[in-house]
Amino acid sequence: MAGFELKKKRIPFRIFEASSRVGGRVWSVEQGRELGSIAEMGAEFFEERHQILFALSRELNFETQEVEFDNKLEPLMLFAQGRWWPSRELRSKIRNSTAQIFRVKLKLLPLNVSKNLFEFLETPEAQGLDQVNVLDLWQRQRLHFDPVMRSYFEAQCLRNLGAGLSETSGLAWLLNFEKDERSRRLYRIVGGYQRLTTILFDRLSGVIPGYRVRFESPLSEIERVDEESYRLHFETPGGPKVYKTKYVIMALPFSQISKIKGLQNIHLGDSKIRAIAALRTSQPIKSVLSFPEAFWRMKNDRAPGNQGRWIGGSYFQGTWDSSWPGKGRGFQLSLLQIAQKFKDSSERQLNLGAPNNEMDSIVREISQLTTKAPKLRTEDVQSLNWGQQKFFGGDHIVYQPGQLTQFNPSIWTPEGLGRLQWAGEYTNATDSGTVAGALMSGLKAAQNMKEIYKFRKI
Ligand SMILES: Cc1cc2nc3c(=O)[nH]c(=O)nc-3n(C[C@H](O)[C@H](O)[C@H](O)COP(=O)(O)OP(=O)(O)OC[C@H]3O[C@@H](n4cnc5c(N)ncnc54)[C@H](O)[C@@H]3O)c2cc1C
Repeated sequence: MAGFELKKKRIPFRIFEASSRVGGRVWSVEQGRELGSIAEMGAEFFEERHQILFALSRELNFETQEVEFDNKLEPLMLFAQGRWWPSRELRSKIRNSTAQIFRVKLKLLPLNVSKNLFEFLETPEAQGLDQVNVLDLWQRQRLHFDPVMRSYFEAQCLRNLGAGLSETSGLAWLLNFEKDERSRRLYRIVGGYQRLTTILFDRLSGVIPGYRVRFESPLSEIERVDEESYRLHFETPGGPKVYKTKYVIMALPFSQISKIKGLQNIHLGDSKIRAIAALRTSQPIKSVLSFPEAFWRMKNDRAPGNQGRWIGGSYFQGTWDSSWPGKGRGFQLSLLQIAQKFKDSSERQLNLGAPNNEMDSIVREISQLTTKAPKLRTEDVQSLNWGQQKFFGGDHIVYQPGQLTQFNPSIWTPEGLGRLQWAGEYTNATDSGTVAGALMSGLKAAQNMKEIYKFRKI
């Protein structure tokens, strides 16, 4: 996105990409019993408030589609206390618990907090809330939930914030807490999210003739040559390459920044250096399973017809229906697993590394819901462990107690009088962890760069 914007401003640039593909954590692949089914191994949805995607769809001519929910189906199934709970049994529990949390949120957070987030993060109130984990926050605020609702909130915290309740900052949890998840309208990109990144890539050519993106060129080291310039070292298939430049937009995933040599010597702020060393990222494993029919939508022996939104269980934390409308396409369930504690993640990765283990655990879970699930074939399952992906090593930043107020906004403030800009989802305060947040951060970095570039040229 930064490149797209720089090109519009006629500012020459080069992009170096570590892997051999465009898209990063957006990764759409074909899969399933019928050709044409798209499996999203990374990002899948965006929300109505993510207006940048609608604007880009008009500008770049791709289609978006609202995800339709069928009101006749159960919207949610939760596995807790040894059994599945359909949403009609959960509805009043969720309503009561959510109302309690909202009362606390209104009491503790200023109105419109997201608009003035950084001012708020500097206050003693914010720092106090950030120091405690979610369970301590509940205790202090006398929030009591039964074991079923605790499982529900645990799963929600894992999915939205990347770690369990005991490892998450109370403040991060409160800020993220939404009243009614189902009232959020969700959208997808027709043909897969990667259509967007591919179109953006196609639009990049022409600024430096013959040059678009240099693939398989991970940045390995950065040096500050003098007040005005940096030297960047890349590992390329043709051997190491070095470029000298006055302006850098660093758009690596947060988990990869600590691997870059020389960061200590390029005059980064102390807080940024500490943040790079201390902050951890969530470790999701996403799998997509294809079936000849959407058995979950039919009422069956053990479960009512449901939207395919299941939370909890011994292995999987969240499953949802990822089928694309249209005839003869097969039906898909997506499955997102996130380790509950960071220390668990290596065990989980070992267990879940092999596709067969993955399938076994999924089949076991599904058989608790219905005996009608068709048999899964190996070719109907794809799994991606983002924690083990070279150049990613995880997904979004998890704010453990104390870290949100300690490291924001320093983790993304520009350095070198604006010559070194930071972009990527984690640098977007209000929409971190999303594609929209990443796109907006690229736009902002490019606009900042334009100002600096203009000033420097005069
Ligand atoms: C399983 C999963 C599900 C998700 N679901 C959603 C969703 O439904 N909706 C949503 O909005 N978001 C979702 N996200 C998050 C979303 O995908 C990310 O927030 C977004 O794609 C991040 O974009 P980015 O440009 O900041 O980083 P990335 O997409 O990670 O891009 C960074 C690029 O830097 C490259 N790189 C790494 N190291 C180096 C190096 N040393 N030198 C050069 N290049 C390097 C990488 O190869 C990559 O291409 C999901 C993420 C995952 C993992």
